[in-house]
Amino acid sequence: MPAVLRVALPVPLPALFDYLPPAVGEAGVGARVLVPFGRQRMVGVVVAIDAEAAVESRRLKQALRLLDDEALLDPELMQTLAWAADYWLGAPGEAYANALPLALREPKPLPPIGDEYWSLTLAGRSAHDAGSRRGGSKALLALLADGALSAQELTERQPGWREAARRLASAGLLERSERAPAERPLPASSAPQLNDEQQQAVAVVGAALGDYQPFLLDGVTGSGKTEVYLALIEQVLAQGKQALLLVPEIGLAPQTVRRLRQRLGVIVEVLHSSLSEGDRARAWLRARAGSARVILGTRSAVFTPLPQAGLIIVDEEHDSAYKQQDGFRYHARDLALVRARALGVPVLLGSGTPSLESLANAAAGRYRTLHLRARPGAVRPPQVQIVDMRAQRLQHGMSPALLAAVADTVARGEQALVFRNRRGYAPVLLCHSCGWHAGCPHCDRPLTLHAGRRQLICHHCDHRQRMPQVCPVCGVGDLKPQGHGTERLEEALVSLFPQVPVLRVDRETTRRRDAFEQLLAQLQDDAPAILVGTQMLAKGHDLPNLTLVAIVGVDEGLHSIDFRAEERLAQLVVQVAGRAGRARKPGRVVLQTHQPEHPLLRNLLARGYAAAAADLLDERRKIQLPPYSHQVLLRADAPQRDHVDTFLRDARALLPELDAVQIAGPMQAPMPLRAGRQRGQLLLESTQRSVLRGMLRPWQHALFALPSARRVRWSLDVDPIDLY
Ligand code: ADP
Ligand code: ZN
Ligand code: ZN
Repeated sequence: MPAVLRVALPVPLPALFDYLPPAVGEAGVGARVLVPFGRQRMVGVVVAIDAEAAVESRRLKQALRLLDDEALLDPELMQTLAWAADYWLGAPGEAYANALPLALREPKPLPPIGDEYWSLTLAGRSAHDAGSRRGGSKALLALLADGALSAQELTERQPGWREAARRLASAGLLERSERAPAERPLPASSAPQLNDEQQQAVAVVGAALGDYQPFLLDGVTGSGKTEVYLALIEQVLAQGKQALLLVPEIGLAPQTVRRLRQRLGVIVEVLHSSLSEGDRARAWLRARAGSARVILGTRSAVFTPLPQAGLIIVDEEHDSAYKQQDGFRYHARDLALVRARALGVPVLLGSGTPSLESLANAAAGRYRTLHLRARPGAVRPPQVQIVDMRAQRLQHGMSPALLAAVADTVARGEQALVFRNRRGYAPVLLCHSCGWHAGCPHCDRPLTLHAGRRQLICHHCDHRQRMPQVCPVCGVGDLKPQGHGTERLEEALVSLFPQVPVLRVDRETTRRRDAFEQLLAQLQDDAPAILVGTQMLAKGHDLPNLTLVAIVGVDEGLHSIDFRAEERLAQLVVQVAGRAGRARKPGRVVLQTHQPEHPLLRNLLARGYAAAAADLLDERRKIQLPPYSHQVLLRADAPQRDHVDTFLRDARALLPELDAVQIAGPMQAPMPLRAGRQRGQLLLESTQRSVLRGMLRPWQHALFALPSARRVRWSLDVDPIDLY
């Protein structure tokens, strides 16, 4: 019986595909092969080698080519990916496609992993001596006249050099080479003396190195978590091992990368989505070769090979950016735990506002909690005040108390952050005579007014239209913006505080790369300023002169039907508030609301996040919501409502009636119409994970076979983090 390769292919089908081995080479598990698939050719990963095929072997096609002589994915990663595909009901091939950088999913040999260097050829030297080139080319020749430089050095000295390099290389004047990665200089900065709690945390986790153990590092922003990470990474490096540090967004990374590089004096690879595909593949391969000792990255970096793993850290573990919301819907924090177990290393989850899931795990004794309560840099925690907005004369949506606090702050020469989690000028544009409002034609939601662009934009499907001058229905009415977005607050603050710079930070003002950093770089440490912005401002960036955080309106979060809304709101409020008074000056937080008596807000401000979270967990326990139960959400959408309804009814009919599993629906999604598609869902819930899990794979297979499934787009989400 000939051996059969079981191959994972990047197609959204929950199956492996059988092929006969290629004519040349010995294909092993974890190697990539090029195979025919329909009329295409695809790169797949060999998952297993079986003696017998699932179908008769004479009908099997042969793999075209073996791409790797040795496994590209080691057994641990293969095992973790198989687990992940199974757990999140992904197609096996999709899990591999998420794990492998795009450049490694092409039928090519692996790119070299050395540093990229450029140097002059003999012809290039003559051209330099003759001074025969102009502009960027001339400058580049001159730069390289003293010897080869790395791509990184070139980028630092002559931004935009690549175009000139391409021209010169094709004229035979430059050549490119690869060298072994350069060793970085010795650490340039030294660690502060750690305080007692930090030392304790480092000692406890340090003692666990070499074994799987999960830890929760609970400490507010500024409490020195990053210093703990750094001290532990130093220990890991001293043992000759690798460390993986996950962060939710790369916006956080530039500062962190700089800090890591300066402190550790080793190569810190950064893996994130705005990296070029070549660089991404190189970083991944360097981690695999063990030459990258410290890997910093966002969600998908959780798939980095770690042959010499020593420690995995997940910073801001509560952040929802760790959950992938389409395709393969994995959760990077949860996967980090699975990997740490497989690798036999500790995993450290850090947050100032831990997720209720992690708090429940800690309470159940599954994680060991380490607290950082002091803020080494700051004098004392910010002072928090709730402002009752009811029956107040609001000016541009802001109460007198809030505006007075801003005025005080800038008068003292300090900076204020006005926080509002809504972009645009106003969330609704309303006709004052007939009551018409501008709604999205595809979503059944109001359009947001963006006054600067004179546009109405849908924040759900990105539909855009010009802002009308008069009411399109009655033709006479005055159109009035309702409510306040960041753009409108900026306008108001500029007119109220003409002598102070007002900077707006939201997705609109930071579209360009680095725009965020550049905006903040305009802030002088000792000058007054007002920042207006969305949750982008909630994290990162030390602003030592920022002493006031004014939160304008969080009431939406108190009304949401999503059971996680209150948890998110609490996390957001605490994170934003943490921006105030990080340095020597005391901070102050003003939160204005129409619901000053709301238990969550009261609790949060009077007793802090831990107490508020404990109460939220209690509620979840009482009504058996996650983390005390487990959910799986089947989502479906289609242009026609009855196609969605039929599919969901058929889907439900396939499910056995079990006491242990509650089924809700079919029902409309909380947002029933989006981008022109009708949306519906079916929610499965159980306190017994194994019972729920047992029915999922067979159900998924049956769903694929349903005729009504062909008329909808559908997906299964295991442990969904929102029900939209
Ligand atoms: P977090 O990661 O929890 O937000 P950081 O580790 O970034 O906190 O620390 C906040 C600030 O306090 C940083 O500027 C850091 O250099 C400083 N810091 C942290 N620990 C100490 C310490 N033990 N002594 C002095 N400064 C410290
Ligand atoms: Zn009208
Ligand atoms: Zn829309």
